[in-house]
Amino acid sequence: MGYGQAPHILIVGGGYVGMYTALRLRRKLHGDEATITVVEPNSYMTYQPFLPEAAAGNLEPRHVVVPLRKVLKGCRIISGHVVMVSHEQRTASIQPLLGDAFDLKYDILVICPGSVARTLPIPGLAEQGIGFKSAAEAIYLRNQVISRLDAAASATDAAVRRRALTFLFIGGGYAGIEALAELEDMARDACSYYPDLAPADMRWVLVEATGRILPEVSPAMGLYTVKQLEHRGIQVKLNTRVESLLDGNVVLDDGERFEAGTVVWTAGVKPNPMLARTDLPLDERGRLRATAFLQVDGVADAWTAGDCAAVPDLTKGEGATTGPSAQHAVRQARRLAENLLAELRHEPIRPYEHSYAGSVASLGLHKGVAEIYGVRLRGWPAWLMHRTYHLSRVPTVNRKARVVADWTLALFFRREIVSLGSFADPRAEFRRVATPASAPAAGTHAAPGMPAAVDGPAADSAADSTADKAVPAASTFPGTPAAAPAPPGTPAPPPRRQRRTRRPRSGGADRRPRPRAPPRPHGGR
Ligand SMILES: Cc1cc2nc3c(=O)[nH]c(=O)nc-3n(C[C@H](O)[C@H](O)[C@H](O)COP(=O)(O)OP(=O)(O)OC[C@H]3O[C@@H](n4cnc5c(N)ncnc54)[C@H](O)[C@@H]3O)c2cc1C
Repeated sequence: MGYGQAPHILIVGGGYVGMYTALRLRRKLHGDEATITVVEPNSYMTYQPFLPEAAAGNLEPRHVVVPLRKVLKGCRIISGHVVMVSHEQRTASIQPLLGDAFDLKYDILVICPGSVARTLPIPGLAEQGIGFKSAAEAIYLRNQVISRLDAAASATDAAVRRRALTFLFIGGGYAGIEALAELEDMARDACSYYPDLAPADMRWVLVEATGRILPEVSPAMGLYTVKQLEHRGIQVKLNTRVESLLDGNVVLDDGERFEAGTVVWTAGVKPNPMLARTDLPLDERGRLRATAFLQVDGVADAWTAGDCAAVPDLTKGEGATTGPSAQHAVRQARRLAENLLAELRHEPIRPYEHSYAGSVASLGLHKGVAEIYGVRLRGWPAWLMHRTYHLSRVPTVNRKARVVADWTLALFFRREIVSLGSFADPRAEFRRVATPASAPAAGTHAAPGMPAAVDGPAADSAADSTADKAVPAASTFPGTPAAAPAPPGTPAPPPRRQRRTRRPRSGGADRRPRPRAPPRPHGGR
C-alpha cells in the first residue's frame, strides 16, 4: 500500500465509531503520518444511552453530547452528509449543511454512519410518530409530555383531555423501555404540581410485537421489568401489533382502539440507507460486509464498524455477527484504529473479539434492571450500576464532570416541569405578528409555536376539526419533523430531593374538591 504522500483518511459519521476512531488515530498518529477528515451532519457525537435521562430532565441535554470540534483537534470536520461513495475512484460526494455538494478525494475510508429507525408501512405512522435516537427527539419528547399535561389540565372536553394524556410507545427494546419508563416517571412526578391531574389520569401504553421485552437480558429479567412497569400502571401489551395510527386513532391487531396524543416508535433499527449509495458489498440486511479485522470484506483501504456493519462475532458460532450496541461500537472503534495504524506501519493486524457483557437499563429515578456477566440486579442497585457504568463510559472528563454535577443537583432539587416546546419554532410568534395578512382578530392569541393553520381568525373553526387542534400545542407534535435543532437551555436538572409521588387514590381521600378526569374506557389501571 503506497499513498505517495501522507494518506488522507476519510471518516463517514462522527458517532460512537467515528469519534472514537478519530480520537485514537489523532492521539497515536505521528505529525504528518496521515490527515483525517470527519464528515458528520451534527457538530457533536451523541451519547445515546443517556438520552432517556435527558428526556426525563435528569441530565442537561448539552451534557450528553460531545462537541466534535473541541475533542478532535487536528482533524478537519465537515458539517454535512456523505451522499455517495465511489471507493473505486476513492471519492465521496458530500452535501454540506449549506451550499452545493462537492466531491472529496481520500486514500483510506472509515465508513460508520450507524443506523436509522426501522419502520413499517403503518398508516399514520410517518405523520404521528417520533423516534428516539437523537438529542433533538429527547428534548422534543420532554417538551411534548409536559405540554400535554399543561394542555390536559386546562381542557374541559373529556375526550380531548384523555387523548392528550395517552402516550403510546411501540417497541420494547432497551431504548423504548428506558424512554417510556423515564418519561412516565417524570410525568408522574410532574403531576404533583397540577391540582387537576393525578397520575391515574394518564395512560401509558407499550405495544410489543413479540412475546417479551428487553431481548438483551434474560427472559426472567424481561418479565421482572414487565411486572415493574405494570405495577406503575403502565399497560404492557405483548404479542400485539399496531395496525393504524391515522390522525392519532390507534388500532391494534387485538381489536382495541383508542386515541393517543403522543406516539413514540422505538421498534428497532436498520443500517443507514446511504450504504446502498456506495460501491461497497452489503449483506441481505443492508449492512456492510466486514471481516473480523473490521475491514470491508474483500476491499482494500476500507474499514467499518458499529451499527452499520456485519462484523463476525468470534465469541459465537459460525455466521454470528455482533449486535447494534454501544458496547461493541466503542470497542470496535478502538480495534479499528489500532488495525488501521498497524496497516499504515506495515505491522500485523488483530481480529475484534468481545463477548457481550450484558445490559443495564434505567427505569426512572432509583429504578433499574441490569444483567452483567450473568449477575442480575434489580431496582436501586441496578439503577446505581446503570449510572456508574455509563459515567465511566461517557467520553471526556469534561462531560463526566457535568453529568456528575447534574446528578448531584438532582439530589437537592426536584426537576423542572417547564415545556419549552416553542423552541422548535421560535420564529413562529414573530412570523405571525410580522405577517399583516395573518394578523389575528382582537382576542385571538395563539401560543408561540402553534401551527399557522390554527393561528389567526380562522383558528376557532379549525380548532374544532380535530381533538389535537383543540389542545393548544406548545410543541407542534404530532406531525412536526423530528429533526428540529436542539433548543438552547432545555430545563436544567432536577431541583430538590425526590418527593414521593402521589399514588392513584381510590376516591374521596383528597380533602379539597378536585375536578376528576372522566373514567377511562380502557380499564388499563
Ligand atoms: C436511546 C438509546 C439508548 C441506547 N442505550 C444503549 C445502552 O445502554 N447500551 C448500549 O450498548 N447501546 C445503547 N444504544 C445503542 C448505541 O447507542 C448504538 O449501538 C451506537 O450508537 C452505535 O454506534 P455507531 O457509531 O455505529 O452509530 P452512531 O453512534 O449512531 O453514529 C452514526 C453517526 O453517523 C452520522 N451519519 C448518518 N448518516 C450520515 C451521512 N450520510 N454522512 C455522514 N454522517 C452520517 C450520524 O449523524 C451519527 O452521528 C442506545 C441507543 C439509543 C438510541
